[in-house]
Amino acid sequence: MLQQTQVKSVIPFYERWMKALPNIRAVAKAPSQRIHKLWEGLGYYTRVRNLQTAARIIEAKQDGEFPVMFADVLALPGVGPYTAGAICSIAFNQPTPILDGNVIRVLTRIFGISGNPRERKVNRRLWSIAQNLVSGTRDCSSLNQSLMELGALICTPKQPKCDACPVIAYCSAHLQNRVEQLPNIAPRLRPTQRQFAAFILERENRFLVRQRPHGVVNAHLWEFPNLEIISEGQDAKESAETLLGVRIKSLEPFWTIKHSITRYRIRMDIWRINEANRLPPTEECWFTLQKLVTLPFASAHKRVLLRLLARNSGARVKKVSTRLNPRPISKTDDPLNNAPSNKRR
Ligand code: SF4
Repeated sequence: MLQQTQVKSVIPFYERWMKALPNIRAVAKAPSQRIHKLWEGLGYYTRVRNLQTAARIIEAKQDGEFPVMFADVLALPGVGPYTAGAICSIAFNQPTPILDGNVIRVLTRIFGISGNPRERKVNRRLWSIAQNLVSGTRDCSSLNQSLMELGALICTPKQPKCDACPVIAYCSAHLQNRVEQLPNIAPRLRPTQRQFAAFILERENRFLVRQRPHGVVNAHLWEFPNLEIISEGQDAKESAETLLGVRIKSLEPFWTIKHSITRYRIRMDIWRINEANRLPPTEECWFTLQKLVTLPFASAHKRVLLRLLARNSGARVKKVSTRLNPRPISKTDDPLNNAPSNKRR
């Protein structure tokens, strides 16, 4: 859960998860829909699928016992050198190094490393420093945690609190007055605007939704039918008719959501559709509101669902939480790539 996500955002998810699935066996056995629902709002859903695959491997090969050897931990799906190093050092006090964004910042400043940490040579040097540090102590767990905490709380990207820093006397960047220049990372890509249209289609108190397919971002999560607006002036009614394969009498604007994912600034216009011919629901993806609230939804679409619930009042659905989940941070991949096709479902 902590990959790419702040601790304070993770805590409520972690507590809810541990109540529902308190051990490896429970995770291994849980239905896919359940793990996605418990993860709903945390983002990066590949993590939860990897977690379950790892739990199943541990159940099958290690009799449910979490591995303690670095190579075995590293071999689990979703676990890279950083996570394996963090688990083995923090949980088992082994001399395994860690290198995340916080630690990179701390080490480049303390050791005055000018090169770009993303370059292979510089990155290798940082791993080597991290290894030397952890090899030189008996308390590997505390050392690695302190490096991470130093980066998170004191040696922050902007305006680090050098006056409160316990290693100020050893810090090259501070001594050379180069704190602001390190780490030397390339500027972020400029934001890109993207626009989507989503459609609410209701028949006999059921709403049309679709599940994102395997292998795409937000795979297995549910969403209202939607498409990306590619060309300026693209007609929402025509787009909806093509997407949904229905004749539309009229469209009413329902809501507009603006949100950011990595470098994308996304605007999603949501429309409520009045069909020309109100046909009965015919496909398996028509659900009542009561059913929809039990499904795991992609974050923006969860917001649409909550608004829909509020508009339709509590008469038909009772005791539904309207709290929005905390959002993940600092995403590095493109969550919108490989969106499911806009074919009629
Ligand atoms: S002295 Fe300042 S720049 Fe150096 S490690 Fe401490 S907080 Fe970071």
